[in-house]
Amino acid sequence: MFNASELAMPYLRPLQAYAPGEQPTEENWVKLNTNENPYPPSPQVDAAIQKAIGLLRKYPSPTSAPLRTSLARHFKLGADQVFVGNGSDDVLNLLVRAFSGDNPVAAMQPSYSLYPVLTGIAGKQIVHIPFGDSMEVDIDAIANSDANLFFMTSPNAPTGLAIPNTILREILDRFSGIFVVDEAYADFADESAVELLNEYPNCVVTRTFSKSYSLAGLRVGFALADPSTVAVLDKVRDSYNVDGLAQAGAQAALEDQTYFKAITEKIIRNREYYRTKFDAWGWFTYKSSGNFLFTRPLIGDRFGAEIAKSLFDHLKANKILVRHFPKHPDTCAFLRISIGTEDEMESLIEAIESWLS
Ligand code: PMP
Repeated sequence: MFNASELAMPYLRPLQAYAPGEQPTEENWVKLNTNENPYPPSPQVDAAIQKAIGLLRKYPSPTSAPLRTSLARHFKLGADQVFVGNGSDDVLNLLVRAFSGDNPVAAMQPSYSLYPVLTGIAGKQIVHIPFGDSMEVDIDAIANSDANLFFMTSPNAPTGLAIPNTILREILDRFSGIFVVDEAYADFADESAVELLNEYPNCVVTRTFSKSYSLAGLRVGFALADPSTVAVLDKVRDSYNVDGLAQAGAQAALEDQTYFKAITEKIIRNREYYRTKFDAWGWFTYKSSGNFLFTRPLIGDRFGAEIAKSLFDHLKANKILVRHFPKHPDTCAFLRISIGTEDEMESLIEAIESWLS
């Protein structure tokens, strides 16, 4: 019987594809499992996409040039310091394609589970540097990792913890490979590594329109980096890696900063408010700089993988989806809960109260 796997690259055979959070097709779920924004995108996005539909006969800008210019203006950088991709996952993939050489790729553990998949696709090894018991960063281990490419997720997923720039500076003073700060959630944080870019040319910041701009369905992400890094990424991307509707929609969202600020502030306010509910139950919750909370449910004073799974199942039975990462000891006792609308969060609290009783 034909089996294409036998003709594929041998290193692909053991590879497990990335496991995204569940995306139910019916509407009646409270979806708090993939860190999507609960609010719609700026109304300007609709108008911009309608206009771009009229241009679909033509190829889009191969470099997403107008969007690069707007992003450069927004971040006070040169247009040659901006690269745009088909979601930040595309940008991360291109970074692996371009910069994973003979030396290993490295990332923190726990962090975004896509990195090992991307290195696996490229036939490369990934080394994980564990966080300490209190999620502190082992700077020596990073400096001594010998990696050509390092992924630091900040704010981290799934914990939500931001890595302060003081720590990033200490690392960058000692690390000479490409150091990627994956800032998918940075719009919900107090600090960003963007200000380190002109000081450390080997630093790359990746961002996305999926979370804070409510455009996960459009697939637009970007990297801010040294012009020489952008030039390498431009060599390895698809010729038209971001479609015309996506370029237009993302640009409209970026230009509506009033709307962006209003929904981002609302999510941060709700994050802090609902965190106090978990605190009141005595649950340990990491300080989050993202649009989600990583919390450890308790029954009495007991916690663990089974208790987290029990709450996960109870919520699912109540049509509320959250995320459980059962495979790693640092994550198995926790649930990651995206911040939804007030109504969604009230449904969550009610369902947790019924589980507790
Ligand atoms: N980085 C991190 C840390 C994420 O959690 C995500 C979302 N899954 C991404 C990058 C990718 O975002 P996107 O491809 O939608 O831009």
